[in-house]
Amino acid sequence: MSALVVAHHSDGEVTPATRELISAGQLTGPVTVALIARTLATLADQVDVPGVAEIVTVEVAQDAFEPDVYLDVVAALVQERRPAATLVPFSVDGIGYGPGVAARLSLGFAADVHGLALEGSQFLATRSFYGGRIHAELEFPDTAAPVLLLRSGVWAPAEGQGNAGRSTFSAPPRLSRVRHLEFVAPEVASDIDLTEASFLLAIGRAVRDADGVAQFEHLAEQIGATLAASRPLVDLGLISRARQVGQSGKIVKPKVYLAFGISGAVQHLVGIRGAETVIAVNVDPEAPIFEVADYGAVADVFDVADQLARVW
Ligand SMILES: Cc1cc2nc3c(=O)[nH]c(=O)nc-3n(C[C@H](O)[C@H](O)[C@H](O)COP(=O)(O)OP(=O)(O)OC[C@H]3O[C@@H](n4cnc5c(N)ncnc54)[C@H](O)[C@@H]3O)c2cc1C
Repeated sequence: MSALVVAHHSDGEVTPATRELISAGQLTGPVTVALIARTLATLADQVDVPGVAEIVTVEVAQDAFEPDVYLDVVAALVQERRPAATLVPFSVDGIGYGPGVAARLSLGFAADVHGLALEGSQFLATRSFYGGRIHAELEFPDTAAPVLLLRSGVWAPAEGQGNAGRSTFSAPPRLSRVRHLEFVAPEVASDIDLTEASFLLAIGRAVRDADGVAQFEHLAEQIGATLAASRPLVDLGLISRARQVGQSGKIVKPKVYLAFGISGAVQHLVGIRGAETVIAVNVDPEAPIFEVADYGAVADVFDVADQLARVW
């Protein structure tokens, strides 16, 4: 039994997360990819990469993602195909239907999975708890085919030209209770490119408010660093999304990464794997950021900022 990968696409492009799932699913051999869309031809070519045995196309009435449509189609497909596991990106869309498929069919389920292994023919999934402090390996003894939402950025995307078989699947027609009306792209300042910066001063929730951000903005300018941030500051509207580092932000590769008041959640750490030297400042000596830091100081970020501003 192979794994079933549910492709994710947007604006006529299959996202890299889909090809990461194809790589992850190889544990039980070449995977089957389900492609759900209104216009299928060019999308199917994009997932025809090595490691895909079959592409199942499902024509639906909607161009854009709608959760109930995916829920019905994927549940019907899983019932017919009985895959070893159903792999879905851990994305806003994936969260919108993956748990529903598992609940409807009484299958095992895990989200934010960042490791996969096989025991016999059954999938084991690794995910983290307590802000990344504990990694747990989950097994699904009472259900043969779990639905697993996989974190992006963990597996290398499958590349190259494949030779997959093609088939079609008829979906039960259904209008979603949640309708897609319009996609509004988040405003991203185009003058900042964190991915090219060699010296980043990244601030976390510890800086608290607009005054804190302004202080560190000033410090970054003084020491010649580019200001970056963890996601909470972006979500609070204190800093532009273009400056967010991590799984749903930018993957950076600076020579030096200063992490000020950032705990080191897995979703943040995914973004700084390519950093040459990580220097962390945090009041909590147990903060996970210290596990990946080359140098660390257990100290208050405001004290360190004052000292740096004075001596630089
Ligand atoms: C699907 C998904 C995607 C995500 N994507 C991202 C992403 O791209 N990027 C990202 O960053 N997060 C992302 N997150 C959120 C992530 O899980 C964490 O919640 C987030 O990284 C925490 O940010 P933080 O470290 O700034 O805040 P916290 O976890 O609250 O940590 C604040 C830290 O500051 C320390 N501190 C407090 N006061 C001081 C002080 N005065 N001096 C020194 N240290 C102090 C504390 O000890 C603590 O360690 C994502 C989450 C999900 C579910």
